[in-house]
Amino acid sequence: MTDKKVVLVTGGSRGIGRACALELAKAGCDVVINFAGNAEAAAKTVEELKALGSNSESYKFDVSNQAEVDENIAKIVEKYGRIDVLINNAGITRDDLFIRMGEDKWNAVINTNLNSAFYVSKPVVKLMMKQRSGAIVNMSSVVGLYGNAGQANYAAAKAGLVGFTKSLAKELGSRGVRVNAVAPGFIATDMTKDLPNIDEYLKAIALRRMGKAEDIAAAVKFLALDTDYITGQVLEVDGGMTI
Ligand code: NAP
Repeated sequence: MTDKKVVLVTGGSRGIGRACALELAKAGCDVVINFAGNAEAAAKTVEELKALGSNSESYKFDVSNQAEVDENIAKIVEKYGRIDVLINNAGITRDDLFIRMGEDKWNAVINTNLNSAFYVSKPVVKLMMKQRSGAIVNMSSVVGLYGNAGQANYAAAKAGLVGFTKSLAKELGSRGVRVNAVAPGFIATDMTKDLPNIDEYLKAIALRRMGKAEDIAAAVKFLALDTDYITGQVLEVDGGMTI
């Protein structure tokens, strides 16, 4: 049990999730991270979180597997007693032109990037409703708002998160639970490190540079902790990519 706010960041071991975890730990929260397979990265992030004074642990589970999610959320609640902030961040890409995209790539991305929000939010929302307080931030993408050739699966999942965010905000507002989304643009992480023609992407960004994971973490912290009267919103953090 703890007096601090308890935060769960899915996919919190690397990239944007890691930056969110560190930012929320710096703000005085106890931050729990989830990861899928890279135990070394998760252990390193937990050490960094502990160094910031956070009572942190990592939990390995596949966010696209309801049974694994339920089992691990129950363990987290048993240990920490509550969850005040949920960041639904874990995600993957399996890009291909639609004409070539098989059901495997479609399902992998829909399951990991969209169904995961259903699975993880379900037990956490029940808890937050009992607490009569909580904040959820879903990691969408500008691709979910504007589309992208070669990413029909990813765009569909990320657009789905926007509808999910707004609907939950309407359902849960009267219980003191806020639900928002962040839509990052082009952010330097493992997910984007092998993309070809990076210079072409940069030309389309007003600030002419990629964002950093920390840029997204600042927006997530704002929505999760710094405001109490914003819900159902999608905050685009893209360096002016979509204006
Ligand atoms: P990343 O560097 O590839 O990190 C992905 C994280 O998600 C890792 O911690 C990974 O764990 C975890 N993960 C993946 N599949 C999982 C699963 N099935 N169950 C549990 N955890 C899982 O990605 P990122 O760039 O930080 O992206 C984070 C989020 O931001 C994603 O939702 C992504 O779609 C979104 N986003 C990214 C960008 C961008 O430009 N990078 C732009 C817009 C939106 P392991 O280390 O164990 O694999």
